[in-house]
Amino acid sequence: MMIRVGLGRDLHRLVQGRRFLLGGVQLASDRGEAGHSDGDALIHAVIDALLGAAGLGDIGELFPPSEKAWKDADSLELLKIAFGQVQEAGWELINLDCVVVCDTPKVLPYRELIRRSLAQALNIGFDAVFVKGKTNEGLGPLGESLGVEALAVCLLKHKDS
Ligand SMILES: [Zn+2]
Repeated sequence: MMIRVGLGRDLHRLVQGRRFLLGGVQLASDRGEAGHSDGDALIHAVIDALLGAAGLGDIGELFPPSEKAWKDADSLELLKIAFGQVQEAGWELINLDCVVVCDTPKVLPYRELIRRSLAQALNIGFDAVFVKGKTNEGLGPLGESLGVEALAVCLLKHKDS
C-alpha cells in the first residue's frame, strides 16, 4: 500500500476591515486575515499539505499571487481545485489534522463548524478531519493576535496500490 504524509503551514497578518476565516468559516472578530485571496490561513495550510503529499508542488505555484484571478479568491474553491488535482493523480485522503495558533479569537467554539466545512469540501467523513486551536501564551506577534498561523498534516493513500 502506497501511503504518503504531507505537511502544510501558513501565516497571515490580522488587520482591520478583513474577515477572519478558518476552513471557510467566519469567526467573530474585529480583525481578519490580510492577503491576496480571502486569507484563510487554515485552508492554505491544508492545500500545501495535500499538494506536498502528492508531490504536486505548492499553493504558490498553483495559484500565483501575481495572477488577478486569485485576488480575494474564495479559499474553499482553491481547496477544491487543488484537491481535484490530487485526486486526479490517484490519491485519496485518509485523514487531515490541523493546528491553528492564535490568542484571539478562540477557535474552540468554531471547531465543529470548521471540521464540517473542511470535511464537506474534501468529501470525507467528519471524523477524518480534526482541528485544534492553540494560544501562543501571549508571546510574540501571534500572542498579541497580530497574526494567525495554521499547520496541517494529511495522509494520502494511492488507489492503485
Ligand atoms: Zn495563505
